[in-house]
Amino acid sequence: MATLTEENVLGALAQVPDPDRGGDIVALGMVSGLVIKDGNVGFAIEVDPERGPALEPLRQSAEKAVYDLAGVTSVTAVLTAHRQAQGGEPGGGQPQQAPQQPQGQPQGEPQGQPQQRGGALPDGVRSIIAVASGKGGVGKSTTAANVAVALSQLGASVGLLDADIYGPSMPRMMGVSGKPTSPDGQKIDPLESHGVKIMSMGFLVDEETPMIWRGPMVQSALQQMLREVTWGELDVLVVDMPPGTGDAQLTMAQQVPLAGAVIVSTPQDIALLDARKGLNMFRKVEVPCLGIIENMSYFACPHCGERTEIFGHGGARAEAERLDVDFLGEIPLHLSIRETSDAGMPIVAAEPDGPYAAAYRQIAEALLPKIGGGARQAPKIVVQ
Ligand code: ADP
Repeated sequence: MATLTEENVLGALAQVPDPDRGGDIVALGMVSGLVIKDGNVGFAIEVDPERGPALEPLRQSAEKAVYDLAGVTSVTAVLTAHRQAQGGEPGGGQPQQAPQQPQGQPQGEPQGQPQQRGGALPDGVRSIIAVASGKGGVGKSTTAANVAVALSQLGASVGLLDADIYGPSMPRMMGVSGKPTSPDGQKIDPLESHGVKIMSMGFLVDEETPMIWRGPMVQSALQQMLREVTWGELDVLVVDMPPGTGDAQLTMAQQVPLAGAVIVSTPQDIALLDARKGLNMFRKVEVPCLGIIENMSYFACPHCGERTEIFGHGGARAEAERLDVDFLGEIPLHLSIRETSDAGMPIVAAEPDGPYAAAYRQIAEALLPKIGGGARQAPKIVVQ
């Protein structure tokens, strides 16, 4: 089978004209972030934001042109309003380093509310918090799902945005699947589960489709999931960030108007300073840290209930104190936490009267004043 090359793909895309500008989309410099992995191709088409909605046929023609090439098994094209950094080559797919200033907004300090950072809040959404971790596998998504459900049980209207587009886990954890619909053909209605409105790339892309897109495409996908969804009135939108502290995460943190970030850490992760990296990432983009959660804090035996502190519990609390960041609470390592989230029913929903739901609710209670009502003032962060 012929090897698929960047030239093949760009050659096919050069056959796709921009209907308004009289030239092909490659010659016009509109194609960026081209990624080819096995037979899977992804790229972004950069367009003026005003033209975005009218250019869906262009996006589809571009996908089709590439799909028709030999050796292509899947194509994902996204329209993006974001410009590649100067000098960025089409195949590079590197995330932008500089924050994009939303149009009409001055450079420098955001105006008025701290929420203006990263653009305006989506209509009806009162605050957005990120749940992040220094590395994968610490239970960030499990925590995000349970905290979201706990916030909703406390009476808040809650949305959950699965920004972990490389490995979306919310459909599975929240037990929701299917394709969201778009009654007006413009905005997508989120799905709903356990009292929480949910948007995840997992709803839009087949689970089998590898997530190969990077850079501008990731940013575009996140912006679409944030802004082109009918969230309605939300007290808080919880964003499950991708794990790690690389450029993609940094760019995301810059582009979402976050009220603050919650760092999930295990005791050993604290020891390895991964959580500190997470904190520093948000600090770089001036997003306040709302606190640290210690997950898998100790082992709670499902048989006898005995508590074993495998990793030397309490590291996160001590580290939070040292960094002058709030400690929001600790969640034990317990089989039923994993089983319930694997079964699509987070433990807060499955066993609302149990001790683990109570632990998550305590965290949600600690978060509420930091995100709601008069307390929307950004908390002071002092991170060394
Ligand atoms: P991350 O989002 O940080 O990659 P996940 O939330 O996907 O991590 O969790 C990784 C695995 O650990 C999952 O199988 C999840 O069910 C399990 N897990 C997370 N937190 C706990 C916990 N407190 N007790 C037991 N299992 C947990």
